[in-house]
Amino acid sequence: MRNITIAIDGYSSTGKSTVAKQLADWLGYVYVDSGAMYRAVTLFAMQNGLISENHFDKETLIEMLGEISLHFTRDEEKGIAEIYLNDKNVEKEIRTLEVSEFVSPIAAVSEVRKKLVEQQQQMGKDKGVVMDGRDIGTVVFPYAELKIFMNASPDERAKRRYLELIDRGDKVSYDEVLANVKERDHIDTTRKDSPLKKADDAIEIDNSEMNLDDQFHIILQLAKDRMAGRV
Ligand code: C5P
Repeated sequence: MRNITIAIDGYSSTGKSTVAKQLADWLGYVYVDSGAMYRAVTLFAMQNGLISENHFDKETLIEMLGEISLHFTRDEEKGIAEIYLNDKNVEKEIRTLEVSEFVSPIAAVSEVRKKLVEQQQQMGKDKGVVMDGRDIGTVVFPYAELKIFMNASPDERAKRRYLELIDRGDKVSYDEVLANVKERDHIDTTRKDSPLKKADDAIEIDNSEMNLDDQFHIILQLAKDRMAGRV
């Protein structure tokens, strides 16, 4: 069996990271949540006063990019890789609705993308990686052996994200979560640099009506076929 690269792209809250983690655990691959990296840059901008109500200071963020260092460290107890921003674990802080509200405009900045894409390519250079995001199959790993594009209805996605946030104890309403899901879809698909779109050779999976187990087994089989060189 050869080691392959697995790229999982798709709209917000389609369950990309859930299936990516399951696959990485099962295959013994490295899992990289590229969205966490864009979220951490957003948190950095918030912490440095670069974001106000409806505006962010793009020029200063670009100037300060050299001060941002990101890495993942696996928490063996939880069994997941957590993200560190300048050596501080920010895994929980980056998941708030506030970060979600600012992340897409920041992810549209080419200088930010360039920095993060380089780091992502470095992390996947030896293959044996499952990475999820918006541009993994189109830009980060255009030669990935397996590309999945995930989709589900906006209502279903907002419901999942809402339950996740409520479960964490965040005070949010379903309507604001739905509005955020739609707003991010819009910005992510219409930005100039690396817009979210299905790669020509990606396999699309709509999981609105699919359970996690079925989804995992479908994608695992696709991965095994490629690892065995059957496809
Ligand atoms: O995956 P997640 O929802 O955490 O990603 C947060 C945001 O980061 C996305 O809405 C998108 O704006 C941005 N992103 C991106 N490219 C990626 C991963 C995430 O632009 N590869």
